[in-house]
Formats: sequence, C-alpha cells, structure tokens
Amino acid sequence: MALSDQAFIQYSRQILLADVGEHGQEILSQSHVLIIGVGGLGNLAAQYLAAAGVGQITLVDGDTIERSNLPRQLLFSVEDLGSNKAHVAAEKLMQAYRDCHINSLQHYLTLENSPELFNAHQQFSLLLDCSDNFSTRQLINQLAIEHQVTLVSASAANFQGQLLSVNQQLCPDTGCYHCLYPSDMSVSQSCQTVGVLGPMVGTLASMQALMSLNLLVSQQVKAEQLKVVEQPLKINRQQLLGQLYRFDGAAFIWRQAKLARDPDCLVCSA
Ligand SMILES: [Zn+2]
Repeated sequence: MALSDQAFIQYSRQILLADVGEHGQEILSQSHVLIIGVGGLGNLAAQYLAAAGVGQITLVDGDTIERSNLPRQLLFSVEDLGSNKAHVAAEKLMQAYRDCHINSLQHYLTLENSPELFNAHQQFSLLLDCSDNFSTRQLINQLAIEHQVTLVSASAANFQGQLLSVNQQLCPDTGCYHCLYPSDMSVSQSCQTVGVLGPMVGTLASMQALMSLNLLVSQQVKAEQLKVVEQPLKINRQQLLGQLYRFDGAAFIWRQAKLARDPDCLVCSA
C-alpha cells in the first residue's frame, strides 16, 4: 500500500529517518496497537502513536475521569469529568489524527473478558501496559506471553519510573514481568499512595511510545530498502527487547539492565 501525498507531507520528518523511511511509515499505518489503561501513560503514549500514523489503536479502560487526573492525563479537561477514559480519549484522538482508527473498550481488562480482545480475528502488532495496578500488570504480561505479542510496559510513581520490553520469541534468554516481580510484595508504589508529577509520567510515556515506534518500524526491513539506505540504521531490536530501564526523576539518572529470565517463572517457563 503506497502512501498518499498528504501522508508524505504529514510524516515527512519521520520518513526522513533512515530507520523509518517510506517502508517504515507503511508498517506504522498497518499496525494495530493495544493499549491497556488510559491514564497518564496511556493518554500520552496513545497520542504519540496516533500522531505518528499508527493505523489502528485499541484503548481499554473502565475508569472514569476524575479531577485529580487532570495534571497528568492531558487529553482530558474539566468538561470530561465523570466520563469513561477510553471513550473520551478515542473521541479526541480521532478528531486530531484522522489516519488512525481508534476502538475503545469501556471496561477493565480481566481474565474472563480477555478472549474478546485476543481472538482469531485480530492480531496486535504490540501491547502497551499503561495500567496502574499490580494485578492488571501481571495479567497483561501473562496474555502477552500466551498470545506471543511484544509487550512494552511502563510505570511511574513518586520520582521512580520503569520501562521494560518483553519478547521471548526473539530474545529467548530474557525474562518477563513476572520474572521480575514473582510476588506482589515487591511492588508497593502507586500514584494514588505516593504521588507523582505530571512530567514524570510524561517522560515514561514518551519513552514507551519511542520504544514502541522503534520496535514497529524495525520489525520488517525489505532487502531493497537496505540497498537504497545511505545512512546506517540505528535501531537494533535485539538490544531493545528483554531490557529493563529505570529512571530516577529526582536525580535525573537512567539505569539499564537485561531483564533476567527466571527458569522457575510460573508464567514464561511453565
Ligand atoms: Zn517470566
């Protein structure tokens, strides 16, 4: 599918990148990204992906917009208080980014309703965990492993942020979210209990969106594209996947480590 003249103009700054190019932009337009959670992370990650020309996004959230959400959840305003987050975000994003089709599921993800999402009729290019609680994060990780969808998971609370990526088909010796947190004892922080600044969430959402775009555009490189590329490619999928990044937003320090695989993990080693 060739890009329209209008799309060429709209996405010209990213098409200029050797790692994206016309072919990468076409991949984005054919991608379907599933985003669980439309709070601070989901608002911004969805906006960046829709703005970049991702063809389809499915937003899942049963939560309603509250006044205390507004400093972080920048798609929402006072008029939206009491409305469903996935619904309002989908309406606003479709208004702003006409190339992106957005589905909204206005309920929380559960094990029971997950077959509605993960069925034979739809294939997700990527799964973004933008949720705000431990049990949903574990469920998302479990579904990503089971359905072999690449997972990009982000979180932010207080001045601590975390980003990790999971794809054990491409990086079999790396771990999953459950390898990192085998029990809920190890995760105690959430925005509700320890607070957070809006840009702290925005930083992690931007990194999550950047990681997602990098993974999407690098998933298929045609041989003929490589021949015409004059600049060397910069994105290395193998280096991005199976990694854990932690950001200290008070000291402005990023740390990176390989996401180690637990041979006894109940999710990925079963
Ligand atoms: Zn695991």
